[in-house]
Amino acid sequence: MKEINSAEFEKEVLQADKVILDFYSTECPPCEALASKFEDLSKLYGNDVTFLKIFRQQNRELADKLGVKSSPTLLFFNKGQEVAGRLTGGIKRSDIIRNLDSMLPAERVTEIRSRIRSTVSEFDVIILGAGPGGLTAGLYLCQSKINTVLIDIALPGGHVSTTHEVSNYPGFIEPQAGYMLSHNMSEQTKLCGTIYKVAVDITRVDLEKKEVVIDEYETIKAKRIIIATGTTPNLTGAPGEKELKGKGISYCATCDAKYYNDKEVIVIGGGNSAVEESEYITRFVKKLTIVHQFDKLTANKQAQDKVLKNPKINIMFESEPRAFIREGDKIVTEVENVKTKIKQKIASDGVFIFIGMKPNIDLFRDKLELDQWGYIKTDEDMRTSIRGVYAVGDVISKKYRQITTAVSDGTIAAMAISKEME
Ligand SMILES: Cc1cc2nc3c(=O)[nH]c(=O)nc-3n(C[C@H](O)[C@H](O)[C@H](O)COP(=O)(O)OP(=O)(O)OC[C@H]3O[C@@H](n4cnc5c(N)ncnc54)[C@H](O)[C@@H]3O)c2cc1C
Repeated sequence: MKEINSAEFEKEVLQADKVILDFYSTECPPCEALASKFEDLSKLYGNDVTFLKIFRQQNRELADKLGVKSSPTLLFFNKGQEVAGRLTGGIKRSDIIRNLDSMLPAERVTEIRSRIRSTVSEFDVIILGAGPGGLTAGLYLCQSKINTVLIDIALPGGHVSTTHEVSNYPGFIEPQAGYMLSHNMSEQTKLCGTIYKVAVDITRVDLEKKEVVIDEYETIKAKRIIIATGTTPNLTGAPGEKELKGKGISYCATCDAKYYNDKEVIVIGGGNSAVEESEYITRFVKKLTIVHQFDKLTANKQAQDKVLKNPKINIMFESEPRAFIREGDKIVTEVENVKTKIKQKIASDGVFIFIGMKPNIDLFRDKLELDQWGYIKTDEDMRTSIRGVYAVGDVISKKYRQITTAVSDGTIAAMAISKEME
């Protein structure tokens, strides 16, 4: 593995055979998450592909010329031609391997794969999920000198990292940008010494044995497991939703509202998320229509008051989406009044869906006691029905799902574990 600069790009990349080039930055958590995977893979693939790193901040002109807009970005070159598709953000080991393999003959790939050795490491506690619940548990455990590993399929932060503003997390007078709040939580836990394995594939979880296999070959064992895997947004299930997801249908206002400047959008839902995010989206759009299945909004009163007074927002009560259809630049939402059964078509530039969440428990669904909605049941110390397995945050059965309640659960689980391990 070698570090290059812009002056060396021509010789080291364009005139070379097979190259993987990592544009990285400092103070960049996803770059840190990538570094160990990059180094590890350079040992495996280094005879066939040259592994290069380039510091983006000091080589801005080249980055701009190549259209590199975020760090880290991995580019793949074969005889001077860019190939295999760029990788950016929380880059998984499996994605890099897929791209590297696509540059090599099949028999060589088989030979390299045969050299991959399984590894086993041991910790006191494994935390699955690095949202506020998992990060807080990690912080408390680390401060109690309990050897802890935090594993996440994405980058740390959970839902907070994509929430545009958080105004109800105590300790801050002004509303905090969600990505900043989650960044600070994550850095605090990491600086304490908790080990991070993020942007990984979870191959297998054995709650009884307290074993997690990541990226196929890495087994992590522990004495306790904390499940902090949170929730995923529900889909409406209406035809066209899956096809238009990311192509006009969005589940994240922070991520996508800015692309609807002076446009018209529809929001499906009427709970806290739908109402709060609608208020935010109106910073950009000229008109927003909320489609809500009940005759009243179900969000808290303060949030309701804001949207009801907002002149850009129109609300269709007792209505549900029946289909989403792309027509040119527009998305046509077929909306049915659940009482009258009358259907109408509303054209908009985009649709945001905020209709609740489902718990992320697919890897351990059958083994834990769950409530009727599929959330994990715990006792007051966050213990689940399996000995030594705890669960915290939005994934557990409870009434209120907030950052503060996730943080509280994480604290309780960590303190209970610390006590047990004394
Ligand atoms: C749009 C929106 C706005 C919100 N606004 C606010 C607000 O203003 N104030 C407030 O208090 N709350 C707000 N909330 C709620 C708050 O974000 C959640 O209650 C909180 O993030 C829950 O934390 P958590 O750690 O339980 O889960 P999450 O934040 O969901 O984090 C779960 C983590 O687990 C990871 N994961 C998932 N599956 C696996 C797996 N199999 N293995 C390993 N890792 C996995 C995910 O990648 C994620 O990082 C909002 C939620 C949304 C969706």
